[in-house]
Amino acid sequence: MEKIAFQLKNRKEQVSIPSNLGFGQIFTDHVFEMDYDSGKGWYNPQIKPLDRLSLHPATMFIHYGQAVFEGLKAFRTRDENVVIFRPDRHLQRLNNSSRRLCIPEIDVDFVLSALKELVWLEREWIPTKKGESLYIRPFIFGSDPVLGVRPSASYKLIILLSPVGAYYPEGFKPVKILATDEYVRAVRKGIGECKTPGNYAASLYASEFAKRQGFTQVLWMDGVEQKYIEEVGTMNIFIRFNNEIATPKLTGGILPGITRDSVLQILKDWEMEVTERLIPMDEVVSEFKKGNVLEIFGTGTAAIISMVGLLKYKDIEMKFDSAQPDNLAAKLFDEITSIQYGHSEDKYNWLTHVTKKEVEVA
Ligand SMILES: *Cc1c(COP(=O)(O)O)cnc(C)c1O
Repeated sequence: MEKIAFQLKNRKEQVSIPSNLGFGQIFTDHVFEMDYDSGKGWYNPQIKPLDRLSLHPATMFIHYGQAVFEGLKAFRTRDENVVIFRPDRHLQRLNNSSRRLCIPEIDVDFVLSALKELVWLEREWIPTKKGESLYIRPFIFGSDPVLGVRPSASYKLIILLSPVGAYYPEGFKPVKILATDEYVRAVRKGIGECKTPGNYAASLYASEFAKRQGFTQVLWMDGVEQKYIEEVGTMNIFIRFNNEIATPKLTGGILPGITRDSVLQILKDWEMEVTERLIPMDEVVSEFKKGNVLEIFGTGTAAIISMVGLLKYKDIEMKFDSAQPDNLAAKLFDEITSIQYGHSEDKYNWLTHVTKKEVEVA
């Protein structure tokens, strides 16, 4: 691969980060970009000022959705180091999504080094308060200006950075989830295990319906029988039964979350009984009625861990007390964020350190 070309914005003033960040509202000054052409492979890697895209109206992904993305985070640790959480795994998953959508794979090592350059360049944009971080959004889209369904011959990869606030600024807030069997998000053997726009488009209608009734998100059931629980809009789900912590197994319809994987590792380390299996909704309801469901939580990069305060399915309302002293959700949140902010040792080797590099200006 060629060297990365740098075209840097003339920064006159210091970066000023608004105090009320929200999520995905503001962006840093620069992006990483790279192009693909079937004759050349990936070429033209560059770090350049953030600007609008100029696209032909026939650009393929706009019509047929051939695109993939990732979401990961960089943190400023307690001792002022800059770290990225499990970026190798995120870029490998980007390639897994790409393969399923006939998008050419990237060289993970090369893109990771480019990402580190970009994050280092934009390090002043990493907010410092607890709960805040720099959200990283790599994405690839088919860019042929042609109508007609086939894989594009050209693509663009962009890495966009957005300083984000704490997901729940008022503290660890339990979410209300509506389980739906009216609509499905994905089916096994479809594209449910890919981070690709179509899955989110498929989720909007039911999510809006749930929001109008006061719910935060939808819990999706399997796409074939609507019998087994699968995942929440942007989170994987864990059910803590009396003697078992269960999460739906990766059937192909579920996004293989990296937070899910981190939680599984930590729970095994804590010598808890964890299983990945099919979880029928009927089992959750009947065990809840017997008092055997202690807690339910979601896992995902944005909120890390989300405690479920209410799960509604048909006319059954399952309520959970978030103030339980031995709540696993809160313990897991502390364990993961302590690693991310450098308060505890990175014993699983999840952090990639970003350090000063010779930044050449092309
Ligand atoms: C991104 C995402 C998740 C969570 O994955 P993480 O790697 O933990 O951030 C779960 N479900 C869906 C549908 C997602 O898009």
